[in-house]
Amino acid sequence: MQSGQVESAWDGVINGTLILPAGLIRGGLVLWESGKLSYAGPERRVRRGLRLLDAGGGYIGPGFVDLHVHGGAGADFMDGTVEAVQRSCAAHLRHGTTTIFPTTTTAGAEQLQAMISACHGAIEQQRREWGVATIAGVHLYGPYFAADKSGCHDRESCRVPEAVEFEQYFQSGLVKIATCAAELPGAVDFYRAARRRRCLVTCGHSNASWSEMREGFRAGMRHVDHFWCAMSSVPSIRQRLGTPMQGSMAEFVLLEREMSTEVIADGCHLAPELLEFAVRMKGPERLCLVTDCNRALDMPAGDYIFGNQQTGTPFISDGSVGRATNGGLASAIVGMDHMVRQMHADTSADLPAVFRMASLTPAERVGLQRKVGSLEAGKRADVLLLNRRLRVDGVVVGGQLLHQAD
Ligand SMILES: [Zn+2]
Repeated sequence: MQSGQVESAWDGVINGTLILPAGLIRGGLVLWESGKLSYAGPERRVRRGLRLLDAGGGYIGPGFVDLHVHGGAGADFMDGTVEAVQRSCAAHLRHGTTTIFPTTTTAGAEQLQAMISACHGAIEQQRREWGVATIAGVHLYGPYFAADKSGCHDRESCRVPEAVEFEQYFQSGLVKIATCAAELPGAVDFYRAARRRRCLVTCGHSNASWSEMREGFRAGMRHVDHFWCAMSSVPSIRQRLGTPMQGSMAEFVLLEREMSTEVIADGCHLAPELLEFAVRMKGPERLCLVTDCNRALDMPAGDYIFGNQQTGTPFISDGSVGRATNGGLASAIVGMDHMVRQMHADTSADLPAVFRMASLTPAERVGLQRKVGSLEAGKRADVLLLNRRLRVDGVVVGGQLLHQAD
């Protein structure tokens, strides 16, 4: 069966090791009813006639939650069409992402609006076709970046937040994660407005100092995008503000318990010791895995555009990662299943902790932990079937088997 076709003939999964936040259960069973989990625990006798998927002795885990993702399968969310949004979501679904936050790049207001309305359209289409939507909101990421930390985003489109502009995006009701560089004029007002809308408020692509982070924190900022990438450090703040040397985003995140952050664990952005450092310092409850994946996911190596196909910035996919024309990295090209395998291979975190960072922790940060993020009765039946090497064999969303590997 291919993704996109709805197969609702199943009531549960059997014959796999359950991955729960509290630990593993060998010989596990998961059951659902009307799209919601009704049981996740050791195998037990079930009612006759129940139709159970077979995990083949591999693993049964929760669907992944991705807070930061740009596209896949040739499409970028910023292309701004329902087709592009749907294509990206379907690609990430095949890699286990069952809750997705399409993420904007820096761009003009018209393109940002087009992206948000395309996401609205895609949600409706998913509900029609799948009976359930994987899009849980939009991550308003660009355009409020510091120009000197724009990374692979179009630098010309970086600007300061102004209420007349950002309130338009918030009014869509779809923005659930909101990023702004803390040092920009107007950042505090932006953070307050985003907080009022119950967004996860985040600082990214920023050269913010400790005191700017503290101001932001008071206004509701609680997260920093892709730790170590496009963010400040003690040397960068020294260069900006001189001596005495001051704390940067890194120290603020590491010291303040309430702050969370995320890593791109694709094996290309961060060496194993940095992944280990991040998980040991913040713990799996404050560290998220994100893909930050662009349109080159599941595509051949070659030339691509980051952001909108017409106006975005060129980069090269070398088959492992995106490379900007200036030699820097231009975001990842792999799905969340890869991040999970890499994190497990590169760090001391065990499987329940690694899965937590890809599911329950991001769900908690956006306030969705009662609906998704773990295999727990009452939550939406978002279930992954994985083989012993953690490759995705099957993806169930809201109790429907939406993808099965050949
Ligand atoms: Zn970024």
